[in-house]
Amino acid sequence: MTTPVRDLPLLLLGSGSDPASERGVDCPGELPPASDPDLVARARAAKAALGDRVFVLGHHYQRDEVIQFADVTGDSFKLAQQAAARPDAPYIVFCGVHFMAESADILTAPHQQVVLPDLAAGCSMADMATFDQVEECWEALEDAGIADDVVPVTYMNSSADIKAFVGRHGGVVCTSSNAKRALDWAYAKGSKVLFLPDQHLGRNTAVLEMGFSLDDCVVYNPHRPNGGLSDGELAGAKMILWRGHCSVHGRFSKESVDDVRARVPGVNVLVHPECKHEVVTAADLVGSTEFIIKTLQAAPAGSSWAIGTELNLVKRLASEHPDKNVMFLDKAVCFCSTMNRIDLPHLVWALEELVQGKVPNRIEVEAETAHYARVALDQMLALP
Ligand code: SF4
Repeated sequence: MTTPVRDLPLLLLGSGSDPASERGVDCPGELPPASDPDLVARARAAKAALGDRVFVLGHHYQRDEVIQFADVTGDSFKLAQQAAARPDAPYIVFCGVHFMAESADILTAPHQQVVLPDLAAGCSMADMATFDQVEECWEALEDAGIADDVVPVTYMNSSADIKAFVGRHGGVVCTSSNAKRALDWAYAKGSKVLFLPDQHLGRNTAVLEMGFSLDDCVVYNPHRPNGGLSDGELAGAKMILWRGHCSVHGRFSKESVDDVRARVPGVNVLVHPECKHEVVTAADLVGSTEFIIKTLQAAPAGSSWAIGTELNLVKRLASEHPDKNVMFLDKAVCFCSTMNRIDLPHLVWALEELVQGKVPNRIEVEAETAHYARVALDQMLALP
C-alpha cells in the first residue's frame, strides 16, 4: 500500500511511490545491508558471471563506490550513445537517474533491456515539467496566436514524455554541450523558442552565447494561469523559458563566488550552465561536465579551482588531480540526492538479480512515446 505524495518535491527514501513521475517508485528488492563487508566482492563476482552480457554505465555524478564498477563513465547523452554502440550486451545497467535510463532505452536496440538499480532515482528538474503542464503551455501559445512561430527545445534532462512532445512539434533535444547549436537551428526555423525545463541553461545560452538581452527572455510558470504572462509578453519574447531548475546547481550563489575569490587568491571559478545567471556571469569559465573534466585535465599544476557542480564529481576531480587545488564552490555540502540513491547495495542487488535470470527495475518507454522522443533526439544528432 503506498501513499500518494505528489505535493512533495521528492519522495522520502523508501516511502511512497509515484510511477507516473520522475520521482520514481520504491525499490522492490531485498537489498543487501550497506554494512555487508562483501559488497565489493559480490559486485565483482556478479559482473564476472554476467561477462559481456552486461554493460554498466556510470554518470559523472555517481558515488565512487558505484563508479568503480562502470564500464564507461560520462554525461547522460554520451552514456546513452555508448549503450547503443554495444548491441551485444542484452543488459544495460544505468547508474544514473530515471530520464537517462529512458533515453538509453529509446536509443538502444529492442532486445536490450535497461535496468535502473533504484527506481527512486528520479530528477527534480525533470519533474518540474510534466506532459500535462507542457500541453497546457502550448495551448496558451496557441491562444496567444504565436504557437506557429515557436520551436520547442528540451534539455536532455527531461522525461521521455517531454522529449516526445518536442518531437511531435518539430523541435529538438539538447545537452549542455550543444545548447547553442540547438538554438541556432531552432531560430533558423522559427522566431521564438520554448526552452524546457531548465530556465538557467536556456537563459545562459541565449544571453551569453547568442547575444540576446535578458529582456528578450520571459519565464513561463506552469503553476500560474497562462504561465503568469500576458499574451503581449509571450508575443514580445524571443525566448520563453520554462520555470524549472536543477536543485543542485541552483544552490550556488554570487556570494559563494565572491567568498571563494576573497579566500583563495588567483582561484579560477568554473561552473556548470545549470547555475543561475548571476553565478555564471561571475565565474571565469562555464561548461558541461565533460568541459569541466577536460579543463581540469589541462590545468597547470599548482592552479586553484572552485568548481560549481555536483559534489561527487568535484571530489573525484580533487582526488584525480592532487597537484591542483580543487575545491567545491559552495561551503555547504551539495550532492544530488537522487543520483546518490544508486549505492553499492542497489548495484549488487541489480547485478545479482540479472545473474539469476531476472531483470529488475526495467525501464521501458512506451512505443509511440519512444518514437517521437527519438525524432527529437535524432534531430539533435543531425544538428549542423
Ligand atoms: S544534478 Fe540536477 S539535473 Fe542532474 S539529476 Fe540531480 S537534480 Fe537532476
